[in-house]
Amino acid sequence: MQIKKFKKVLVANRGEIAIRIFRALNELGITTVGVFSKEDRYALFRSKADESYQLNPDKGPIDAYLDIKTIIRIAKEKNVDAIHPGYGFLSENPEFVDACERHGITFIGPTSDIMRAMGDKISSKQMAIQADVPIIPGVDHAVHSEKEVIEIAEKVGYPVMLKASNGGGGRGMRIVHTAEDMPKEYAEARDESKKAFGDDQIFIEKYLKSPKHIEVQIIGDNYGNVVHLYDRDCSVQRRHQKVVEYAPAFSIPEETRQVIFDSSLRLAKTVGYRNAGTLEFLVDADNNPYFIEMNPRIQVEHTVTEMVTGIDIVQTQILVAQGYTLDSDEIQIPSQESVETTGYAIQTRITTEDPSNNFLPDTGKITVYRSGAGNGIRLDGGNAYAGAEITPYYDSLLVKACSHDRTFLGAVMKSTRVLKETRIRGIKTNIPFLINVLNHETFKSGECYTTFIEDTPELFL
Ligand code: ADP
Repeated sequence: MQIKKFKKVLVANRGEIAIRIFRALNELGITTVGVFSKEDRYALFRSKADESYQLNPDKGPIDAYLDIKTIIRIAKEKNVDAIHPGYGFLSENPEFVDACERHGITFIGPTSDIMRAMGDKISSKQMAIQADVPIIPGVDHAVHSEKEVIEIAEKVGYPVMLKASNGGGGRGMRIVHTAEDMPKEYAEARDESKKAFGDDQIFIEKYLKSPKHIEVQIIGDNYGNVVHLYDRDCSVQRRHQKVVEYAPAFSIPEETRQVIFDSSLRLAKTVGYRNAGTLEFLVDADNNPYFIEMNPRIQVEHTVTEMVTGIDIVQTQILVAQGYTLDSDEIQIPSQESVETTGYAIQTRITTEDPSNNFLPDTGKITVYRSGAGNGIRLDGGNAYAGAEITPYYDSLLVKACSHDRTFLGAVMKSTRVLKETRIRGIKTNIPFLINVLNHETFKSGECYTTFIEDTPELFL
């Protein structure tokens, strides 16, 4: 075990995830460094760091957080040992990982090689095939012509999905129902991918009708030891984006879950995965699981796994990045058998999206902010407080409200209760909509699938 003890860590992110990481660092006795854009100069998260520094004001609200040069410069000037990227922004950028390494700064995450192998959807599919992990019927390479996509679509059968290899956040996906629609959809998909994700690498796979989205949290150390921390059900989505997540994925048959866990560990070991990551699967109506992609970073919904396993994933990330083994006294995960789940945890994402206005994110000043609390509740936020100005520049997440209970229905009741206790005035939120989701019989029975929200108009009442 070769240990590089961190004294100071920079968090290259903003909002709730920056605060989440500062907290983990605080508990480990490590000094925290924040960075913020000009637009975020009044944001709360920056004051939660021991020190914080403004990024390049000329870059604009998003590009400031993507500015590798300035982030590395600040890290060097302030003698930072490591950088945690959070999610989004630079978290999946292998060039950022390389830049950190070149400057002797540890990147808290996988190596750049692993990121390249797993970072885009096509190469992760190829790795999955190597590891003998089931994937959705389609192709394992980029398609290059209209003729080729039509041929493959005929082979796998319509409807099919065109996907941007570098797509993310639910964008860059198109469902195509017939061969007639294909030329237009293919041209638009390529165009869109180039504009939104910087390249026009498109692939095609079978569109699964109303599957469940099940994902597995894994964590590995620098010496080849990997464990999974069980699964999450993230089937409640709107426009392919997660709205409510829970752990464990109790509605999937035990043998299917086992296939998913075994596949995840096999794939992680095949690529020599290290640090935290998530393998995402779709499960069809016959309970066949298919790997869709891997996220080589912490995810928004890691909270529910922490609640049911009692393992602090962010702390574990920081510890393995320092060189501790999973079985060390600092981490204490000596084996897969030592990871257990207790009860059920649910996360709801409270956002400024206005359900009565096509979920358009609202902006403005929060005049009243009172959060729920109490037994079995965990809140991860920071953007929202009385007086906070919600800007249009960043994602619309205000606070993640999580609950934990011995039973799933108990967790549903606790989540409902905390949402009802919460008062946010001055801007619109999705709280009433979330309450409708939680209290729908389909949700309570664990039978939600990815098109549940669009198929259920009564949620909008
Ligand atoms: P992103 O990287 O944008 O999150 P994913 O590949 O993780 O994209 O897919 C997000 C969601 O899109 C899935 O959870 C699922 O709801 C839907 N989806 C993706 N691929 C398919 C498919 N082949 N068939 C049906 N739905 C799909």
